[in-house]
Amino acid sequence: MLWDNMKRFTQPAYSIYYFSDEIFVKCPKCNGFAKVNITRESDYCYKKSLNCFECGFMTTKGWFGYWEGFIKFHCGFCGSKIEYSTKKPTKKLSKDMVFCCPRCKVTKRYPLKWYRCNFAGRDLYFGLELWLKISVKNQTLWAYNLEHLSYIKDYISSDLREDNNRYKYSIITNMPKWMKVAKNRDLLIKKINSLEKSLPKV
Ligand SMILES: [Zn+2]
Ligand SMILES: [Zn+2]
Repeated sequence: MLWDNMKRFTQPAYSIYYFSDEIFVKCPKCNGFAKVNITRESDYCYKKSLNCFECGFMTTKGWFGYWEGFIKFHCGFCGSKIEYSTKKPTKKLSKDMVFCCPRCKVTKRYPLKWYRCNFAGRDLYFGLELWLKISVKNQTLWAYNLEHLSYIKDYISSDLREDNNRYKYSIITNMPKWMKVAKNRDLLIKKINSLEKSLPKV
């Protein structure tokens, strides 16, 4: 291959937050195409809103995603520290659970504290499933919006991938290996193209 014919990736190093002001998701009411919009006042202060283009559902509050429960206590009988996580993300929250102290084996009800948990393929703000999400060899390829998707596509389809502005939070630096290896390139581009076509015209 001639050097001149090689496609070069020249875009800046962005973190995921660069693309997170508008996120395409599935509506929690009708599963239709919806958008999450984030208005930032500062790094930690933002307003979120959700709008469904199918059923018209709108909200600025709530978490539709999964939770993980924790128990953090000292056993009332032997005093040993009890730290337990429900591990399996759930949507069914209970106030407490029966727990057996691993040291003295006394069983007691302990209050659970619930925290939002998130994983690849869901949005950070409402916990909804992303619209632009597709499985590739048991992995999940996902993007928040079209701009994010084309950024990923641009990188994957490039022959020369300079990453001069490497930094901890860069999307490229954090991109998993299966998305970077040459043997997956054609398949990934095919999947990205089908994601692009999955978008409704709104
Ligand atoms: Zn809807
Ligand atoms: Zn105990």
